[in-house]
Amino acid sequence: MSGLRTVILASLCSATFAQYIVSNDSSISRILGPRLTSNARIILPGDVDFSSSSERWQEYAKPTFKAIVEVTTESDISETIIYANERSIPFLAVANGHGTVHSLGGFQHGIGIRLHKMNKIQFTEDGTHVTIGGGASNGDVLQALKAANKQTSTGVCECTGFVGPALGGGHGLLEGHYGMMVDNIIDALVVLANGSVVTVSNEVNNELFWALRGAGHNFGIIPSIRYKVHTPEALDWNYTIFMFSGNKLEQVYETMNDIVVGRQQNLTKMINYAVWMRNPELDPVNPVILFGILYPTSDSHGPALTASFHDFGPLSVQSGQISYWDLPELTGNGKNSAICQRGMVHMKFPIYLDKYNTTALRSAYNEFNLATSQVPAFKDTILLFEAYSLSNVPDTIWTNTAFPWRNARALVTPVITYQPDKRLDDTAIQFGASIRQLLYQGSNSHELRAYVNYAFGDERPEQLYGNEPWRLTRLHRAKEQYDPNNRFRWYAPIIR
Ligand SMILES: Cc1cc2nc3c(=O)[nH]c(=O)nc-3n(C[C@H](O)[C@H](O)[C@H](O)COP(=O)(O)OP(=O)(O)OC[C@H]3O[C@@H](n4cnc5c(N)ncnc54)[C@H](O)[C@@H]3O)c2cc1C
Repeated sequence: MSGLRTVILASLCSATFAQYIVSNDSSISRILGPRLTSNARIILPGDVDFSSSSERWQEYAKPTFKAIVEVTTESDISETIIYANERSIPFLAVANGHGTVHSLGGFQHGIGIRLHKMNKIQFTEDGTHVTIGGGASNGDVLQALKAANKQTSTGVCECTGFVGPALGGGHGLLEGHYGMMVDNIIDALVVLANGSVVTVSNEVNNELFWALRGAGHNFGIIPSIRYKVHTPEALDWNYTIFMFSGNKLEQVYETMNDIVVGRQQNLTKMINYAVWMRNPELDPVNPVILFGILYPTSDSHGPALTASFHDFGPLSVQSGQISYWDLPELTGNGKNSAICQRGMVHMKFPIYLDKYNTTALRSAYNEFNLATSQVPAFKDTILLFEAYSLSNVPDTIWTNTAFPWRNARALVTPVITYQPDKRLDDTAIQFGASIRQLLYQGSNSHELRAYVNYAFGDERPEQLYGNEPWRLTRLHRAKEQYDPNNRFRWYAPIIR
């Protein structure tokens, strides 16, 4: 009897549930539509541009949508959140769609709040700051800065969003001049989980302001931020791009250690990027090391620091002077570059290091070599090394924002890349995780430190948001106050 009752109840429930879903899909235009401003738009499955509007840079663990609302004002964002709350539908901010963390895959059949039309960039008359829309791309901002003859901290790649990177810290070429992206936010508008709109700054809602700068994906949707801009300090840059064969690894990274962790690091504005990759033309058997050094021409230490790398017998060297504005193109981060193409799987396993342990790097190289030769589909996989100058990042700001890893010197990230093929996913995860583990074992760190903007998604909150206990306590408190129902839980959530 009770079994039959369960069956009847279950079928009733699923009928009601199905009805609810159907009525929801068809009612969103009828009910939410009139609440939105005239330029907003609701895109539903079946609309011609639904699939292009849902496209992501990362194919693995993608969020999926039952509707996408293209918002144009903060009131559109508010109304959409209120509508979603009334029906317990999940919602997610989408700016430029480059988020990769696998928790995004937990977001299924929700409402995408697409911000790309909110991309206005407006400088103040006195030229001290700029207001940037929550949907502006990094490329939009770079272009606007160039036109206004200003500089500030931005991401490197033109195709990502601007606010998205800033919410997780924001690394970039001018970090050694102006600090990280989070350090340049003056204030922000935030639409909270209940649909209300608040301003956050050091003066108002300052705990939320602190939390937003490093753990920002967990707290709200940002229609716009006010951001510091500066008179340019670094418009002309020197670059040298070496290609080394894998057997030069120890020499190259031991020398780099002197710059990355040594005294010299604080003296110079030098930036180092390195990429391990397969390049059959240069080496048909083993991965090669692309090793790029960039520094502003005004940096008097740059030439001497670069000189030693020439002695290691590179396979090739390319060097010259370039305008700051052309650096995205040079570094393969321009909006038309291969890195901006959508539709591939890219699994990232980031780790911050204080110095390079060349024994661990050698083991990682061997692993990289093995996996990329045994699985031809992984041929575009890279190991990315980023070491930004810290010369203008004062110790005093280490606690000012929720970004926890300012003392780290280098960011190393295996990026396992392949055409979507579910049969390869487990192998790819094992590969990325094992390289990260080798690097972690070779570090002296007692905790893995990972960059939230690159997180794979298996990291614990303290590995993304900081292992000093007060940090998570403070974030939890802000969460209780501003998002007690954990509606913002899709991007590297603090609370799982
Ligand atoms: C090719 C490439 C280059 C990169 N280069 C850099 C770099 O130079 N420096 C760096 O620090 N990081 C870099 N990243 C990492 C980047 O910071 C993250 O991938 C970031 O999440 C991308 O933001 P998006 O708007 O493009 O993506 P989305 O997927 O649209 O956004 C990612 C998440 O950010 C949140 N979000 C975005 N906009 C808003 C908003 N306005 N309000 C509230 N929440 C919002 C949402 O939670 C969303 O899920 C790069 C990533 C890629 C793929």
